[in-house]
Amino acid sequence: MMSNAPSAAAGSTPPTRVLTGDTPTGRLHLGHFVGSIENRLALQEKHECFFLIANMHAFTTRADKPSDIRADTIEIVKDWLAAGIDPARSAIFLQTEVPAIAELTWFFAMLLSFNDVMGNPTLKHELETKGLGDSYSFGFPMYTVGQCADILAFRPELVPVGEDQEPHIEMCRKAARKFNQLYCGVGNRVEPKDHPSAGGVFPIPEAKIGRVGRLPGIDGKNKMSKSLGNAIFLSDTGKEVEKKIGKITTGRQSLTEKGDISNVLFDFVRAFIKDPARVAELERRYGEGDNIGDGHVKKELAENINTLLEPMRVRRAGFEKPGGDEVVIEILKEGTARANAVAEETLMMAKRAMGLGFWERVVG
Ligand code: ATP
Ligand code: MG
Repeated sequence: MMSNAPSAAAGSTPPTRVLTGDTPTGRLHLGHFVGSIENRLALQEKHECFFLIANMHAFTTRADKPSDIRADTIEIVKDWLAAGIDPARSAIFLQTEVPAIAELTWFFAMLLSFNDVMGNPTLKHELETKGLGDSYSFGFPMYTVGQCADILAFRPELVPVGEDQEPHIEMCRKAARKFNQLYCGVGNRVEPKDHPSAGGVFPIPEAKIGRVGRLPGIDGKNKMSKSLGNAIFLSDTGKEVEKKIGKITTGRQSLTEKGDISNVLFDFVRAFIKDPARVAELERRYGEGDNIGDGHVKKELAENINTLLEPMRVRRAGFEKPGGDEVVIEILKEGTARANAVAEETLMMAKRAMGLGFWERVVG
């Protein structure tokens, strides 16, 4: 497949480089869509995008389920393609087949402190909510360092993610800053944006948070998450969507009871009903108890979500035919080759800066 990734025309500003990814711990859900995928779709139009499947990181919580991880890897790529990620523009690739990432993980592990990792609030929250108990793997906290390498291996300027990833991006910025200061002679008063021009190997990347930074799950408690059983998946059928929306509980009793528009049902209304005038109307009637039941709102909401998901279901069906998995693996293989070209270059630049540039090597 030919790459149509945007490239710099002579004399023009080069496109921003973008990196982000998802862990194959289950299929993608509506939270991914509003938190990150929408931004990826817009960014791939003009920028050079790398989208990673963090399959190594899936082993940090599911080392005993390799076949599930493999299946979810394929499913997530199908979800991406269904959502409109275009493999001719964006490199879709496998973390385990980019060796430079694992090597850079070691280097960054030496630049971040144990407390940087264990004090990361998202990591702490995951340790509580994912039911990992006291016997979580050593690799689990390590994934946060690995994620610095996932990102920095591509020297991107932008990382489109949901709100929960902000502490991770902060760690990544810290690792990049320290590397540039320690090994590239960048002064500690240099502004983040000026690190590359001051000789730093790594740009200090910025998070780009989605339209909805944190979509709650249908339980109304936690963020919607693949591993918490509270998600509406991009690949759910129309009936499944209706059923899941039906399960949202607000505690409201009648059509005339004044409703609380800060409840989870209305978080969904604001996220998925496109017409702002209609959203305002629903908020007013619900808030005033103007003859509107939760059931009415849920029906309209489910219809809007199904309108969003229907074209994805159609595109997905194309990859669910016999041979679909092989097409996905080919896409991954081609994207991984593009990813390795950049990541190997970065690793060599980093090694040279660290006095480790003994000779060049070629990884196929
Ligand atoms: P897991 O439960 O295994 O951590 P997850 O559902 O949190 O899975 P990730 O693969 O960790 O999904 O996250 C992928 C991307 O989607 C990240 O950028 C993350 O911030 C974003 N994201 C995940 N859940 C939500 C959500 N509920 N709202 C907004 N963005 C989200
Ligand atoms: Mg997560």
